[in-house]
Amino acid sequence: MFYELSDEQKEFQKKVREIYEREVSPLVEEYESKETFPVQLFRILGAEHLLCLRCPKEYGGPGLDKISECISMEELNRICAGIGSGIMVQGGLATDPLLHYGSEDLKQKYLPSAAQGEKIGAFALTEPDAGSDASGIRTTAIRQGNGYRLNGMKTFITNGTICDFVTVAAYTNPERRGTGINLFVVNREDPGFSVIKKLEKLGNYSSDTAELAFDDCYVPKERMIGEREGGGLGQLEETLKSGRLTYGARSTGVGQVTFDTILSYIKGTQRHGQPLARSQAIRFMMAEMAMSLEAMRYMTYRGAWLFDRGLATMKDASIVKLFCTESLQRIVQKAMAIQKNIGLMMENPIQRFLRDARLFKIPEGTSEIQHLVIARELGL
Ligand SMILES: Cc1cc2nc3c(=O)[nH]c(=O)nc-3n(C[C@H](O)[C@H](O)[C@H](O)COP(=O)(O)OP(=O)(O)OC[C@H]3O[C@@H](n4cnc5c(N)ncnc54)[C@H](O)[C@@H]3O)c2cc1C
Repeated sequence: MFYELSDEQKEFQKKVREIYEREVSPLVEEYESKETFPVQLFRILGAEHLLCLRCPKEYGGPGLDKISECISMEELNRICAGIGSGIMVQGGLATDPLLHYGSEDLKQKYLPSAAQGEKIGAFALTEPDAGSDASGIRTTAIRQGNGYRLNGMKTFITNGTICDFVTVAAYTNPERRGTGINLFVVNREDPGFSVIKKLEKLGNYSSDTAELAFDDCYVPKERMIGEREGGGLGQLEETLKSGRLTYGARSTGVGQVTFDTILSYIKGTQRHGQPLARSQAIRFMMAEMAMSLEAMRYMTYRGAWLFDRGLATMKDASIVKLFCTESLQRIVQKAMAIQKNIGLMMENPIQRFLRDARLFKIPEGTSEIQHLVIARELGL
């Protein structure tokens, strides 16, 4: 076992850190306060090969591995979790099903433009009445002629108002609960597709979240992902496995910036005429935070290492998501406890880290769902 990043990975980490500091940091304040995603970043990061990292070179991506994606996501989320959301969906949920299950034609049509940032992708599974239980979705895709007619509503969709295409889950056979689902690619300009409204959230302000409608939206059969009707749920599960590991990296990034911010606050602060760093309560809290961060990082990169070798199970991915997102909650709460009133002020970044962290418990399976998955894989 070897627990260090390789020289090449360290070089990549240094490179992405520099790029994100240069290209993303200057945008954070403006776009967090405007509550919009800086769409220009797609082309900028596309040109730097930092969008769909695992997309092979033949489809316009850099063809890197999961460890590299986690390095990149940790660094990006250290700077801004909201922006991290939009970029994560582009290289994960929106394009992974295409990459792994799409026809050659679909791959050629969508992946190069997504990897280069010319087209923005979204992924739509959740509905007003179905989130955790994917088999409960009501959106249908009923065969008609040479295509399918989609009807239904989707909500909480990241990149929803800004997307050029969306990977949508719908029932091709509503009689077959769970097994009758397929994924389709819908283009923004397809008649019958509309953005109902943009949603305002507690955190991740600079990510774009929307409610979408499919009203007799016709898509040609070539835009179904996979060759046969049914099987979409299995495609979704594989896609979520990767995404749950990415949440480990995102949580580590937000945890690290919280830790760094609070450490420099402690070092520069006196309370009751004494350096804050002398307080045993503070020292204990910092030690706990440092310990959590170490464990989060090890777990995330072990999960990514397993994933790259085809060895990661759903249990591995769920353990990473659950442990890292829940550990992050404790880190941001401790940081807030240390700063007290100052942490609550909007000019202070700790309040943003706390709000952003709270959202991490929900997408790609809530904490409760991760518990259920782990228990199921234990044979319970
Ligand atoms: C910031 C953000 C971005 C998102 N982006 C996307 C996106 O891009 N695309 C997309 O499709 N969706 C997206 N979502 C939606 C997200 O995936 C769902 O919100 C999530 O899966 C939970 O579904 P739900 O909201 O319908 O809650 P529900 O499934 O209704 O669950 C409500 C509560 O009950 C709990 N619960 C549910 N079932 C069980 C059970 N069997 N046992 C115990 N507890 C249970 C849940 O943990 C939760 O606390 C996003 C959500 C957020 C917050």
